[in-house]
Amino acid sequence: MKIGLRDFDGKQVNLALMKLSAYHKAQGDTVVLDKFTPADVDKVYVSVIFKKNREAAMQYASQFSNVEIGGTGYDLTTTLPAHIESLRPDYDLYSMEDIYPRMKGVMTKERKIEKATEIINAGIGFLYRGCIRHCKFCVVPTKEGGLQRVAQVSDLINPKSNIITLLDANLTSEPDAIDTLHEIRDRKLILDITQGIDVRLMTPEIAKALSEVKMLRSLHYAWDLMGFEKQVLTGIDTLATHVKRWRHMCFMLVGFNTTFAEDYYRFHKLAFEAKVDPFVMIYTNGKKADAKLRHFARWVNARVYTKIPFNEYRPWVKAQLA
Ligand code: SF4
Repeated sequence: MKIGLRDFDGKQVNLALMKLSAYHKAQGDTVVLDKFTPADVDKVYVSVIFKKNREAAMQYASQFSNVEIGGTGYDLTTTLPAHIESLRPDYDLYSMEDIYPRMKGVMTKERKIEKATEIINAGIGFLYRGCIRHCKFCVVPTKEGGLQRVAQVSDLINPKSNIITLLDANLTSEPDAIDTLHEIRDRKLILDITQGIDVRLMTPEIAKALSEVKMLRSLHYAWDLMGFEKQVLTGIDTLATHVKRWRHMCFMLVGFNTTFAEDYYRFHKLAFEAKVDPFVMIYTNGKKADAKLRHFARWVNARVYTKIPFNEYRPWVKAQLA
């Protein structure tokens, strides 16, 4: 059979499609990624990550007669069968050329090629699925349920690289987080924790173990709800005893259940008192974000706040006059 895999809106690589690819190749099928027409393939899988793209992905899928569609942007119930979920991903599915166009931000062509190569060569996966918490804005509890172990560190290694991309939703809540970090350190792996850590659970021991691992980028965590101020700020201080503050980044959810005054308060505390890098994430739930929040996010995330107060930020001033 000829199998078409369509990564509809992924920003990096798609683990589910990589596992489907591994499964079908093991059956002797031919697998093609993204570039195919209905005449080229016998069966198609479409993965859509973002809810805002759901309709477009369904429209795309409708041209194929034998098609399955899934992904967080489609629904929270479609999952891979257990015999496919447990497979090692096909690390040959993506090429540098597939990932290169997805590289955003100001980078030279050489740097983009380097980053794209780094992404396709990295090992990727989950050690644990699920989360101990039930944040109402998050899909993880519904999609994955409570915390469950699904793999070992050795399962996540791609021999082409010493980087591992860890997709766990809440590493710091895992009962053996310190052992995991020690194993990653001892194997001399470089860790990319894509979903961040839960800084509210920070202890001096976890902070020390994190500091001993080589990280691919800054350590990120979140302060999403006003009620967690004390736990977040205490956790940041604990982490900072082992990991310098310039290596932290704190995501702030806005547009969920906070007022703008509360958003500004969190930003100010993080940037000027905790002295860590804030990063605004807008909760949209598939809808267009509020204009003030969009301007606020740009002003914070591009660090314009280091030069100009928000009420003098020209794009926001102009938007109010329009
Ligand atoms: S702690 Fe993080 S992963 Fe867990 S439910 Fe809350 S937002 Fe989701």
